[in-house]
Formats: sequence, structure tokens, C-alpha cells
Amino acid sequence: MNIIKQKALHLLENAFGKAGTVLAIRAWDPATFFEVDVHFPDMDMSGWKRVQHIKVRVGEGLYRDYTPSGWDADIRTCTLYINAEQDGPGAQWIRSVRAGDRITYVGVGATMHRPAYAGEMVVLGDMSSIGHYLALQQLAGARKMTGAITIAHGNHREEFREYFNWNIQPVKKSGDGGLHSMLKWAGDRQLAHSNVYISGHIPTCIRLRKELKKRDDSPLGIQVQGFWS
Ligand SMILES: Cc1cc2nc3c(=O)[nH]c(=O)nc-3n(C[C@H](O)[C@H](O)[C@H](O)COP(=O)(O)OP(=O)(O)OC[C@H]3O[C@@H](n4cnc5c(N)ncnc54)[C@H](O)[C@@H]3O)c2cc1C
Repeated sequence: MNIIKQKALHLLENAFGKAGTVLAIRAWDPATFFEVDVHFPDMDMSGWKRVQHIKVRVGEGLYRDYTPSGWDADIRTCTLYINAEQDGPGAQWIRSVRAGDRITYVGVGATMHRPAYAGEMVVLGDMSSIGHYLALQQLAGARKMTGAITIAHGNHREEFREYFNWNIQPVKKSGDGGLHSMLKWAGDRQLAHSNVYISGHIPTCIRLRKELKKRDDSPLGIQVQGFWS
């Protein structure tokens, strides 16, 4: 993020910054992925129609976007699923967070992704997309979603299966950004009647979209929401 954008966000924080309290934090094993339950007393979740993201303060003048999922609009709680395989400020911050800590955020905004009401919903992404697709599933209610999340570590794939009662499959991450795994998963399926959602690593999202568009059974739609590069 450039210095001007950082300063602008800092001013925004002073003017509009709101806080939440961490109720609980659970690390997966190995501890490079975190589930964080948060109470956000000022966050009105009742009108959400699209997957949202919040800009969280992870250091002095530093912000990262995370996706509220599993929200309860009545008591204003939600869960953030945060990937911390990398060594960026967001990953360092989440490793230090403990129950009872306050989280500052400067706003809630909608992403491009919302449930499609025609055709099947197929989702593809990496571990940074888990919360995003859990939120999409919450908005879609009982409608079935299928798809694949690329996960490098075998135990994380086990935990994914154990924790989520979901049609989304954890697949072993292979190829640049997991591209090969997602193409292989999609290659074994018909997509003609599907709306495909792609999120996560931006260059991989772009390549995946390009490859899927070449298919003879072209999907009804392909919607990309890039997260990081
Ligand atoms: C709308 C939106 C919603 C998002 N929701 C979530 C979410 O719910 N959960 C979540 O974990 N992230 C989410 N992200 C991504 C998040 O905001 C950060 O960009 C990302 O976590 C990296 O932040 P960082 O400070 O740890 O690393 P950075 O400083 O951004 O990057 C440091 C290095 O790590 C690499 N890197 C960055 N992220 C990853 C990654 N996930 N895996 C492997 N390498 C990486 C970068 O290429 C770079 O080399 C979202 C982003 C957007 C735009």
C-alpha cells in the first residue's frame, strides 16, 4: 500500500475507527491459520446481501481486509478466518492476537460476490478464501455450493474436513498458487450450468478465469474477487 493511501486510512481511523472484542481465537495445526470470534457492537449485519469485508488495523498505519463470516446479526458477532502462512504484517498481527484483545476496523464494504439464484454455485480459492465462501454459503442458505479450496498442509486438509460439514473439498495445493489443483478439480466436472466464483491470490485468479473461459461447456458466469498478490 502506498504512503498516501496509508495516511488516508490513518485519518479515516481517527474519524471513523470502530472496535470489536476478540471472544476466542483458535489456531489450526500447524498454527498458520486462525479462526477468530469477534463481537463488533457497532456493526449492523442485518442488511448484508453480498459477502462483506472489513479493513482491520494490523499495525501502525497498516490495514488488511478480512471477511466476516458466521455472523449473528442479533448479538453482532462473527468469525474471521485468517491465513498466516506468509510473513506479512497481517500474518504477524494475527499470531499475536489473544482473547479479550480489541480489534480496530475502519469500515465494512461489500465485495462482488453474492449468491446466484440460477444454476449451481461453484467456488474456487485458497485458504484466504475460506471465510469468504463460508459467508457466501450463509447468504445462500440451504442452496448447495460445491467447489475446492487449495490447502498445502495435509493436517489442515484434515481439519477442514473435520470442522466444516460442507460440500467444498479441500484439495492438495499444486502448481503456481494452486492453479493446477483447481483446474484438475474443475476438469473433472461439467460447468455449463454453474456460476463460478474465484477468489484469493490475484494472478492465480486471473489465470484460472482465463483457462475456464476456454472450456466448451462455458459456465453461466465467472466472478473473480482478488485478495492478495
Ligand atoms: C476483499 C478482501 C477480503 C479478504 N479476506 C480475507 C480473509 O478473510 N482471510 C484472509 O486470510 N485474507 C483475506 N484477505 C487478504 C488479506 O487482506 C491480506 O491481503 C493477506 O492476508 C496478506 O496480508 P499480510 O499482511 O499477511 O501479507 P502481505 O504483506 O500482504 O504479503 C506479504 C507476502 O506474503 C504473500 N502472501 C500474502 N497473502 C498470502 C496468503 N494468503 N498466502 C500465501 N502468501 C501470501 C505476498 O505475496 C507477499 O509476498 C482479503 C482481501 C480482500 C481484498
